[in-house]
Amino acid sequence: MLCYKDMTFCSFYTSCKDGDNCFRALTDKVLEDARNSRLPVSNFMEKPDCFKESKAKMKRFFDVIKKGY
Ligand SMILES: [Zn+2]
Repeated sequence: MLCYKDMTFCSFYTSCKDGDNCFRALTDKVLEDARNSRLPVSNFMEKPDCFKESKAKMKRFFDVIKKGY
């Protein structure tokens, strides 16, 4: 199936050390562009090879969830 940019994006980037610079990061911008091009977005079910856990970001991530996003 044809997907946006024909690649798999990472929704774990918010808790990844390199997430801010990762070309796989599933950002709001990516989602918006995909929506505009009417293509489905493929994303990783599990953390990809490039994922490096960041404790600080992990905390921020859960703080956001607690606040109810
Ligand atoms: Zn990555």
